[in-house]
Amino acid sequence: MKVTFLGTGTSQGVPFIGCTCAVCTSTNKKDNRLRCAIWVETPEASIVIDAGPDFRYQMLRAKIKKLDAIVFTHGHKDHIAGLDDVRAYNYHDQRPMQVYATEETQQALRREYSYIFTNKTYPGIPQIDLHTIGANEPFSINGLKITPIKVLHYQLEVLGFRIGDFTYITDANYIAPEEMAKIKGCKALVLNALRHEPHISHYTLAEAIEVAREAGAEDTYFTHISHQLGLHDVVDAGLPEGMHLAYDGMELVF
Ligand SMILES: [Zn+2]
Ligand SMILES: [Zn+2]
Ligand SMILES: [Zn+2]
Repeated sequence: MKVTFLGTGTSQGVPFIGCTCAVCTSTNKKDNRLRCAIWVETPEASIVIDAGPDFRYQMLRAKIKKLDAIVFTHGHKDHIAGLDDVRAYNYHDQRPMQVYATEETQQALRREYSYIFTNKTYPGIPQIDLHTIGANEPFSINGLKITPIKVLHYQLEVLGFRIGDFTYITDANYIAPEEMAKIKGCKALVLNALRHEPHISHYTLAEAIEVAREAGAEDTYFTHISHQLGLHDVVDAGLPEGMHLAYDGMELVF
């Protein structure tokens, strides 16, 4: 299985429009972060987790020709805004895109994409098959088993996902003990770490390091990063053993 980080930035992306800070003007490619998404490839399945505003460019940049499904973590705009561009896959594959989301996330999709989910459709709109998932029901895509993990993003329930020895959690600031148990024994864990200053719905870097220690994965990678976190190379070098900042294009192979 191969995991590619398609985007590792917070909702505004990095650089942040109009900002002249050291991170936003850095010439290090690792300081450029599109909105959060990953691509998971196995011999059976090619899926992405989330399709935010950078979805089209991420598919082009990573040259993703085959895409079996999109799995959504939650309905915030920075995770769903790119769904319209599944039209390319509809055209090439001549079939609807398979989309996995909770009831709550589906409500956001129906609201944001009312033209897709209406009786009065017209030619050229995205073709989508919705599959309902829930926190306590593992599901499979082309034989790839995925275990949802319920996390809290302030008051919103967000799904993380465990796939084999890999767990991906974005947009969280609380993980209950029974959900933490689902992560135990993972080789690689991805967690959000927004910045140093406290935030109402995201872990700070210090909080994320604490959660990573508790989870005990061999390696932890931080994502959903704001320009306020600092320069990639500086922050990454200061992290504890086995902890890393993710960056766009980073690949993990299992
Ligand atoms: Zn987000
Ligand atoms: Zn900046
Ligand atoms: Zn969010």
